[in-house]
Amino acid sequence: MEKLVVKEGCIGCGICVGENPDYFEFGDNGLSHVVKEEVDPKDKERLLNSVEQCPAEVIVIEEEKIA
Ligand code: SF4
Repeated sequence: MEKLVVKEGCIGCGICVGENPDYFEFGDNGLSHVVKEEVDPKDKERLLNSVEQCPAEVIVIEEEKIA
């Protein structure tokens, strides 16, 4: 499966939360974190939009190896 990650360095612009509120949420610190890690293949395109648009370039989709 593929796993959605927000790395350190989010500046709280809100693009990802606005586009994909089912995957991203703001924390009390005003920064985004992931609420649903597992990437559903049907959602990947809109998630990649957020990856590309994030001004801090801190969103990544990782391939998670299952042993
Ligand atoms: S798009 Fe990037 S900088 Fe903006 S809130 Fe989301 S993770 Fe943070």
